[in-house]
Amino acid sequence: MKSEINILHLEDNIYDAELIEYILSSNNLNPVIKRVDKKDEFINSIEHGTYDLIISDNTLNNFTGLEALELINERNIETPFIFVSGTIGEEIAIESLTHGATDYVLKHRIERLIPAVNRALKEFEDKSKLKWTESELKKNEKLYRLLTENASDLISKLSSDGIFLFASKASKTLLGIDAMIGKSIFDIIHPEEVEGVKSILLEIPKLKMKTVEYRIQHLNGSYFWCETSFQYIETSGSINFHEMIAVIRDISERKNYESELLKSKAKADEMNLLKSNLLANMSHEFRTPLNGIIGFAEILKSELKNKSYIDYSSRILSSGKRLLTTLSSILNLSAFESEVPNINLAPENLVLIVDSVVQTFNDYALNKELKYEYLPSNKIIIVNIDKMLFEQALTNIIDNAFKFTLKGKITVSIKVENKNNTNFAVVSVADTGIGISETNYEYIFKDFKQVSEGYSRKYEGLGLGLPVAKRMIELIGGEIVFESKVEKGSTFHIYLPLTGIKINDSSNNNFTNDKPSLIKQKLSEILYVEDNEMNYILMKRFLKDRYIVVNASNGEISIELISKKIYPIILMDINLGSGMNGIDTLKIIKQDIRYNNIPVIAVTGYALPSDRDRLLDSGFNNIITKPFTKEEIINLIKKSIGESKWNQKMI
Ligand code: ADP
Repeated sequence: MKSEINILHLEDNIYDAELIEYILSSNNLNPVIKRVDKKDEFINSIEHGTYDLIISDNTLNNFTGLEALELINERNIETPFIFVSGTIGEEIAIESLTHGATDYVLKHRIERLIPAVNRALKEFEDKSKLKWTESELKKNEKLYRLLTENASDLISKLSSDGIFLFASKASKTLLGIDAMIGKSIFDIIHPEEVEGVKSILLEIPKLKMKTVEYRIQHLNGSYFWCETSFQYIETSGSINFHEMIAVIRDISERKNYESELLKSKAKADEMNLLKSNLLANMSHEFRTPLNGIIGFAEILKSELKNKSYIDYSSRILSSGKRLLTTLSSILNLSAFESEVPNINLAPENLVLIVDSVVQTFNDYALNKELKYEYLPSNKIIIVNIDKMLFEQALTNIIDNAFKFTLKGKITVSIKVENKNNTNFAVVSVADTGIGISETNYEYIFKDFKQVSEGYSRKYEGLGLGLPVAKRMIELIGGEIVFESKVEKGSTFHIYLPLTGIKINDSSNNNFTNDKPSLIKQKLSEILYVEDNEMNYILMKRFLKDRYIVVNASNGEISIELISKKIYPIILMDINLGSGMNGIDTLKIIKQDIRYNNIPVIAVTGYALPSDRDRLLDSGFNNIITKPFTKEEIINLIKKSIGESKWNQKMI
């Protein structure tokens, strides 16, 4: 059923009225009809009611349809009006139409009524819609004008050659100009940027929209930075004469801010570079003499016979190492603050690495008369770690154990543990020292925090060991947890995701740490490029049972030496004084194809993670940082030579 149609029916003949109602209803039009037959009734109805349709007879008592139409017109009522009359002549019909009637139907051709009604209703609906749209358009136009005029950006329309066709009021505040229309935008764009903007405007029909930053001139002569978004407007003319909306915004404040920011960043970068250089140089300058102190103390200790002298050299050794640990913590913390180091993850045998770190503390144990034990796993435990970061973290933790334990023992152990369905290798350092009270649990991983602080503090340290260790272990995907009881001791566990476990079959493992062969062999010569004589003598002493160390005191000499003979390995200092440095020397050596598979180890005091990345990128096969122990350098040489033989076999 269609919705109701409200009809005002002007008709004095009740039968005709019923007939029309019948016709409308039987054609499914659902009419609601109000019938009137007098003028005052009609006026009252049109003034107080609204109708979808008026149907009118032409001749009524003292009133005519034409008069009714007149009354409608006088009141600007637009309701469709259909004459239905038996008497209407052609002239009246035409007159009614010229006066605004929608249609007329003769009673003897009443079958036309329904099409006439339908058409009238449709036209009326269309007209109403159009009127509504027009009124909405008018409202919107008013709104847009208001928005345009009140916007702080200059909203304008430009011709394709940059002439202002319209400009909002903001032109006054932005450019100091009231009347922009007819002016060219290119007259006020900074001369250096005119060509750039011109070429962009040529592209607008293709790009449709483009935002551009350039300098524009205020009436007072000063230039300021603005941002303009140009939007193509479709016009019916040639594409060469298109138009554009240009919204011009003052961005001078943002530009100032950006340039301040750039200046600050450049300054910060410069400071950062200075800091990095300073850190790298500090590392080098401290480590080179420490190499001498620790290395020669180690030699003295092994060669002296007098017990007290052995004790003295052992104390020099442990003091040197303490200094080294502190130095590394400070440098690493500063380095981490300025940049996150690249991490070089590689599968390593954890048992061997822990073993070499554990051994560096043997002297501490002797000096303090503590029991010190290492319970390695009987398996080869492979973890994917950055060896250098792990070693530093473990060193800090064992160093703490020694610092805070006066009697009893320190035990380092390795085991494999399953936690939340993941296998971990766990390195634990347990001590029977002073322990940590629960209230201090949250502080100990914070930078520079120590439980005993101030002048009354009883223990050495800077409060950096644990924060640095934590950062390093987390960087390689591990975690440090601890348990502790005051006066009973502490245990720190380093959890590392496990890569694999192998049965320890030393015949088939790459990580053997075997002692020197007892069978006397002819010693081979290896080349050590080093300008510091003390370091050369130390290296010679460390390697005396295994290799003859040939010294080149600068890069140039080393190149001459390698041209005459092939060495199975080259050890290269990086800072070689006034001549070529170690990196440049390596580049020249590697140009000699005979040296393609010969390992070159960087022996350096530049020990920050970023230095190590730089050296590996430069082509060094391995790095050892000063100071190192005899065992560390021997193991590394053996490992490097072994790998290079393996490589050659593969080729
Ligand atoms: P510090 O240089 O003082 O050792 P750390 O950051 O390594 O700095 O450790 C912070 C604090 O945590 C130490 O000052 C100490 O109070 C406590 N601590 C660390 N390890 C131990 C331990 N094994 N036994 C007792 N206290 C410890």
